[in-house]
Amino acid sequence: YKNAPPSVREFWLSTAAFADRTYIVYQDERITYAQAHQIVASVANWLMAQGVQPGDRVAIAMRNYPEWMLIYWACVSIGVAAVGMNAWWTAEEMTYGLKDAAPKVLFADAERLARINERPDMAAGVKLVGVRLDKPAAGVIPWADVVAHGGALPAVTVDPDADACIFYTSGTTGFPKGAQLTHRGCVSNLLNMMFSGACQGLATQRATGVAPPAEPPIPVSLVTTPLFHVTANNCGAYLTTAAGGTLVLMYRWDAGEALKLIEREKVTAMSGVPVMSRELITHPDFDKTDVSSLQSLGGGGAQLPPDLVHKIDSTVATARPNTGYGMTETCGIITSVSGDFFVDKPDSAGPAMPVFEAQCFDDNGKPVGPGEVGELWVRGASVIKGYINRPEATAESITNGWLHTGDVARIDEDGFIFIVDRKKDMVLRGGENVYCAEVEATLYRHPAVAECSVFGVPDERLGEEVAAAVHLRPGMTALPVELRAHCEGLIAKHKAPRYIWILNEALPRNASGKFLKRELREALALADAG
Ligand code: ATP
Ligand code: MG
Repeated sequence: YKNAPPSVREFWLSTAAFADRTYIVYQDERITYAQAHQIVASVANWLMAQGVQPGDRVAIAMRNYPEWMLIYWACVSIGVAAVGMNAWWTAEEMTYGLKDAAPKVLFADAERLARINERPDMAAGVKLVGVRLDKPAAGVIPWADVVAHGGALPAVTVDPDADACIFYTSGTTGFPKGAQLTHRGCVSNLLNMMFSGACQGLATQRATGVAPPAEPPIPVSLVTTPLFHVTANNCGAYLTTAAGGTLVLMYRWDAGEALKLIEREKVTAMSGVPVMSRELITHPDFDKTDVSSLQSLGGGGAQLPPDLVHKIDSTVATARPNTGYGMTETCGIITSVSGDFFVDKPDSAGPAMPVFEAQCFDDNGKPVGPGEVGELWVRGASVIKGYINRPEATAESITNGWLHTGDVARIDEDGFIFIVDRKKDMVLRGGENVYCAEVEATLYRHPAVAECSVFGVPDERLGEEVAAAVHLRPGMTALPVELRAHCEGLIAKHKAPRYIWILNEALPRNASGKFLKRELREALALADAG
C-alpha cells in the first residue's frame, strides 16, 4: 500500500513500461501500449489546448471502442473527471445526463450524435468530438484532428481526492445517480483487485499443491460489459492494464462471439454478469471451442447462483469460478472470492477486501451479530465522495464514512459475506421476508430454466405475493405448476412463486446486463399469470 500510486495519472504513467505489448484488441484492430500512450498524450494535450482545466469534466458517450479507454486515461491523467455516459440512454436520458454532469467536451460515436441531433439543445455549449464517423458532421470535430494534435502528456499535479470519473449507477432501483469516484478510490479498488488475484493463486496452491508461477501469465481479458460501469472499467480494465495485459473489447454481448474470441485471443479471464457465464458454458458451440486458456470464469453485479458455481468448476477444466460483489459507490469490488473458497461456500460473495470495514446493521442503525441478517454498511478508501447534484441522496447513503449499500446481508464467523437481497427487492409476504435471490437460485436448479427473475406483486390479503418471470432453455418445456412444485420441494412453501410467467423471449436487461426487475414487475402485474 505504501508504494501505491497516489493517483490514476501515476498509475497510467507506470504502464508505459509495457511498450510493445498488445493493449487493446477490437475486431481486427490491435493497439500496443506505446501507441495507446501516444494517443492518450495527444488527447490530453488537445483538451488542455481547448482550455479544459483540472477539475473540469469531459464526457464519453459511445460503445466499447478502443477510444473509450484512451479518452478515459487522457482525462484522468490531467485531473479532468471522465464522465461515463450510458450508451443505452435515449435522447431524453442523455439530456438529463449532460445537464447533470455539465461536461466541457463530449466524445461521441455516430449513434449518440444522432440522438443529440434529435434534441440539439442538450449539447448547447459543449464541444463535440465525433468518433468513428463515416462522414464529417457539421459542428463536430473529427477524432483524427484530436489524435493529430500530438505532444507529450502535460505535466499536471493531480489531487488524489479529486474526482477521477463520474459513473452513473446502473439504474436498477431508480433513476441512475452520478457517483463521484476519486483517484484514491479507484487506486484503492485496484489494490483490492490485485489482492483478490493473489488470493486466487493461494487458493489454487491450497487445492493443487502447486505454487503460483513467479511470473504469472499476462492476462487477456474479455470485456463483455460496458466500459461506463465499474465492472468492466475499474475492475476488469484496471487489473488487466496494471499487469500489462490485453483488453479484448466486445461491441455487445454474444455468447457465440465470446467463444470465438476466447479461442482466437487465448482469453484468460472473462468479466461480466453471471448470466453471461451460464450462456457461455451452455452454448451449442462450447464443446467445439478451445477454452483451455481460461483461468477464471464467473461474474459479479448480481448473485452467481450456487448451481452455476459448481457447473463452472466441473465444465471448464482450466478455470475456477470467481465472483465479486461491489457497487458503483465503491469504485468496484467490496468482496471477492474464487476457487475452492468459493466452491466451499457457493452462496457467499466472499470476504470484504482489505480497504473495507464491513458490518451489518438493523433498522435502528445498531450492529447485528455474526450470522444475523441486516443492511450491509461498508467503510473504506474506495467509497465515493457522493453523488453529483444530489446532496440528499448523498447524505442518505453515506454517514460518518459508512456507505449504506442498500443490500441485505449476513456475515459468517469467517468474515464471509452472504448477500441475501436488495433491501428494495425483498418480498414482504404477509409479514414474512422472502429473499428473491434464494428463490431465483432454487428455480435455476430446474434443468429447463435458462433465466429467471423473482419479484413481489401486490396482493390484497398478504400485501405482496412472490412472482417469477422465467425463460426456458430452447427445446425444453416446463409448466408453471411444475416449476412451483420444484420450488416447494426445495424451499418453504410460502417462498415458492405463486405466479410464474413463462416468457418466450430472454428477460429484458439493462446496460450492465442486470434484469430489469422493475419493468418486468410493472409489465407482468397487468398480465395473466399461470
Ligand atoms: P441503482 O443503484 O441505480 O439502482 P445498481 O445498484 O444495480 O443500480 P450498480 O452500482 O451497478 O447499480 O450495482 C450495485 C448493486 O449490484 C449492489 O448494491 C448489489 O445489489 C448488486 N450486486 C453486485 N454484485 C453482486 C453480487 N456478487 N451478489 C449479489 N448482488 C450483487
Ligand atoms: Mg445501487
